[in-house]
Amino acid sequence: MIYADNAATTKMSQAAIDKMISLNNEVWGNPSSLYGFGQKAKEILEEARKDVADVIGAEPREILFTSGGSEADNQAIRSAAELGRKNGRMHIISSAFEHHAVLHTLQRLEKEGFEVTLLDVHENGLIIPEEVEAAIRDDTCLVTIMFANNEIGTIQPIREIGAICHKHNVIFHTDAVQAIAHIPVNVIDDNIDMLSASAHKFHGPKGVGFLYAKKTIRLTNLIEGGAQERGKRAGTENVPGIAAMATALKEANEKREENAKHLTAMRDKLIAGLSAIPHSALNGDAVKRLPGNVNFCFEGIEGESLLLLLDDKGIAASSGSACTSGSLDPSHVLLAIGRVHDVAHGSLRLSIGEDTTDEDVNYMIQSVKEVVEYLRGFSPIWRDLQAGKKEYIL
Ligand SMILES: *Cc1c(COP(=O)(O)O)cnc(C)c1O
Repeated sequence: MIYADNAATTKMSQAAIDKMISLNNEVWGNPSSLYGFGQKAKEILEEARKDVADVIGAEPREILFTSGGSEADNQAIRSAAELGRKNGRMHIISSAFEHHAVLHTLQRLEKEGFEVTLLDVHENGLIIPEEVEAAIRDDTCLVTIMFANNEIGTIQPIREIGAICHKHNVIFHTDAVQAIAHIPVNVIDDNIDMLSASAHKFHGPKGVGFLYAKKTIRLTNLIEGGAQERGKRAGTENVPGIAAMATALKEANEKREENAKHLTAMRDKLIAGLSAIPHSALNGDAVKRLPGNVNFCFEGIEGESLLLLLDDKGIAASSGSACTSGSLDPSHVLLAIGRVHDVAHGSLRLSIGEDTTDEDVNYMIQSVKEVVEYLRGFSPIWRDLQAGKKEYIL
């Protein structure tokens, strides 16, 4: 099988698996217990906190462990909103193509009286910093913009957006789940106040992540109970998972540049090969995109059937909208960059990994070509396009 769905999840690294197993065997004490065996677990937890902080340029006390990216997004946004509410600032700025962990949290806050401005991401899938500045009002309490998009891979001008937020004294949060360990991320250099990350997107275990929050920001807790995580996240810590996350993060970050070089070469070869398919188009900026992300629309076909036929050929891919599978709604990300419904339905995301080879890329290009041609053979939309009854869009 060729696994080309690394944006959905990644395979755990062997070092992370080994760490998780050994801790489950050897250091399974409760880090809140006072005897030595519990304190050993506490030490491992704090070592992991330091390792994670080091990778992003933070202080250990600014790292809060969570159950993943979704929880970190929820807690970051909730916290900034609560601070805003106290100061009578109830306006939030975000973008139209955020992850649903962000968008749905914002929708909930709207019901509670907050006002939300969703910025346009334009045809290339990029925010324009000046438009962030223009949207900031006296009552803006938070700007939350993702570092890199999970469907089309575009990388936002985070440093510039952060600088604008700081100039106007507004908290800046970024969902960096797709960026961490894939591209350089440093919370100081990039002017970030809060950042969300998830271990299973960088070869760590599922169900573990972290929230970075600058030490001056008071967090709201989503889970009430014990005093773990400085009282901001109750529940006995997932020590083996957290330590495995730290192991995976260090490892992935060390290999980041080397991996990015290989991935970029494979990505650009894939893009060139798929562009040769008539009436196709790359989604999102060709340059400001994640090293491993390829996302295309093919006119006259449906993404769902494309995925099933690729699966038959041994390729695990995605339409880019894992969360909406089962519904007929096209991806909100593709609609946000201006793709019309018909075209957005024919999307394909190939998110390749470090072990993707040149041979894999050739096979993927050939397979997609065959499948697109085959599906167009009995697509009524394609027939109308060919007969001139409908205008080609791509
Ligand atoms: C995967 C993902 C999330 C959710 O992370 P989980 O750990 O699965 O909750 C949030 N944001 C982005 C951009 C993601 O890709």
